[in-house]
Amino acid sequence: SGFTELNLCPELNATLEALGYREPTPIQSQAIPLVLAGHDLIAEAQTGTGKTASFALPMIERLSKTPVAADYHAIRGLVLVPTRELAIQVGDNTLEYGQLLGMRVISIFGGVRFDNQLRKMKRGADILVATPGRLLDMLKQKKLTLEQLEILVFDEADRMLDLGFINEIKALLAYMPERKQTLLFSATLDESVEVLADKLLDNPKRVSV
Ligand code: AMP
Repeated sequence: SGFTELNLCPELNATLEALGYREPTPIQSQAIPLVLAGHDLIAEAQTGTGKTASFALPMIERLSKTPVAADYHAIRGLVLVPTRELAIQVGDNTLEYGQLLGMRVISIFGGVRFDNQLRKMKRGADILVATPGRLLDMLKQKKLTLEQLEILVFDEADRMLDLGFINEIKALLAYMPERKQTLLFSATLDESVEVLADKLLDNPKRVSV
């Protein structure tokens, strides 16, 4: 299929085949090779373009190739999303994409009981999909660590800023290592998103669809 030229690992190619994905979408063709190569990325892409797979597939592949941290519970990939609906959707997709590679994926978000989500967290996860407020609460209570984080993704960054999450985002960054790969996805790239990207990204590549 058209995915073979993206050189994803056999497990991911098998997964895509099982899901009936035949051709990469334009954002996937552009973003996947850059993320696999380890670049930071700023991507302008709307919902429905296949953007989730464009960050989730290469993130899963990279994490599958680095050894699990000594602390088995430590999160290595984090996707920050603005809403509970998106947390569920991105979490479901990422779990599906990473299943053959044994990726443990958990989503956490506000508006539901804290203790249920804590129970899930205790089992450990490689990838966490989270809304900023709930994640910050858990970090403040020392219920999880981001010290082993390797890849950070902002999904719908413009919406996160519109919803007023800038202070939470700044607070979250303090829990993460300086050295990591950061990807920022946004439907629009206005001034406020560019300012955020400027702070967060190191020599980023740009893609747009
Ligand atoms: P997204 O823009 O990430 O919300 O994806 C939109 C929808 O397209 C989701 O239901 C995906 O499962 C589906 N999708 C993503 N990439 C592909 C692809 N390459 N081929 C077919 N369907 C896809």
